[in-house]
Amino acid sequence: MTAPPHETHPARPGRALPDTQQGMRRRNLARVMHTVSAEGPLSRAAVASRIGLTRAAVSTLVDELIRSGLLEELGPERPGRVGRPGSALAVSAHGPAGIGAEVGVDHLAVCAVDLRGRVRSRVVRYGSNRGRSPEPVLEQLTGLVRQVVAEVEAEGLWPAGLAVAVPGLVARDARTVVRAPNLDWHDADLGALLPGDLPLTVANEANFGALAELWLGDGTPRDFLHVSAEIGIGAAVVVDGRLLRGTRGFAGELGHVPVRPDGPECACGGRGCLEQYAGEKAVLRAAGVEPGEDRVGLLAGRAAEGDEAVRRALHEAGTALGIALTGAVNLLDPESVVLGGALAGLAPWLLPSLRDELARRTAGPVCPVSVSDLGPQGPLLGAAHSVMRAVLDDPTVVAERA
Ligand SMILES: [Zn+2]
Repeated sequence: MTAPPHETHPARPGRALPDTQQGMRRRNLARVMHTVSAEGPLSRAAVASRIGLTRAAVSTLVDELIRSGLLEELGPERPGRVGRPGSALAVSAHGPAGIGAEVGVDHLAVCAVDLRGRVRSRVVRYGSNRGRSPEPVLEQLTGLVRQVVAEVEAEGLWPAGLAVAVPGLVARDARTVVRAPNLDWHDADLGALLPGDLPLTVANEANFGALAELWLGDGTPRDFLHVSAEIGIGAAVVVDGRLLRGTRGFAGELGHVPVRPDGPECACGGRGCLEQYAGEKAVLRAAGVEPGEDRVGLLAGRAAEGDEAVRRALHEAGTALGIALTGAVNLLDPESVVLGGALAGLAPWLLPSLRDELARRTAGPVCPVSVSDLGPQGPLLGAAHSVMRAVLDDPTVVAERA
């Protein structure tokens, strides 16, 4: 796979479809899947009227999707409706599963979601990955992937692909981690170290967090900036429901936007970057808190108790975030800014100064700032759902299973 699945389709040798009948069939299969996924259960007639095809044409598509294990018939519709009763269609709960994985600085996580978006299996292993080379980390991750795959297979599902969220820059090949400073990984080809039997996508955790917000968030707009943090600070720009990736795939490095040009040196080579003021290390130092297991919980707990040093550190971090975000908001004019990841848990103490700064500095009307409900779950869920989205976008990638 050369790009995230929502943008293009998993590359399969010899499967390039010309934009002819085959391409049309593929698009119609995708329209049926998206319609049933978003609005189901629906009868065949309801699907036909929603996508504007004849009932006969829809029936052919539906039969194919049922044979592929992507749609299920739920039995006759409730009586009392006008007309001949038909079976209600739903996306399958026993078909493909999207396997999402996350390489965190302090943990590894793997989960599986089905086409209905339900999490069917999830495992998390805590332990520092800082300074470990990619080989042992990915060997451990592969073990967790195998465990999750075995669990969903026991429930009659089959893995359709693996998507891995990493805290670093990923090349456009969607498998090479170019730089992950907090892991100290450089030019690591994760594709060579992960199971070869599943289509693979590797992407920055902030990107998957933003996609999770787009797909699962309550009323998330189609144009927004998603800002998240684990150890570093990442951002993702979503424009018209799509990630803005940049020429090399590196868009969204908000953490290295200068807040004070003469500020302290940053690992990136610059000075006074946002991460020097709002990154986890900087906030812990300013708050006088020792780095420990649950750092976000620790900071939130102290702030809630009224610890002045912690509150001041978070206020300063909010100000720095507001300054950095001003540049992005003025440049891109998003509908909103969403705080996710670790920032969501600290929002009550970051937001006041962040909003003040943004309101004071933006040229146009004030851009609203909201807090993600997904919190730290975002990247893992976004990864798993991206695999399911790829199946909805192109059901033919799994059709040969029929
Ligand atoms: Zn920097």
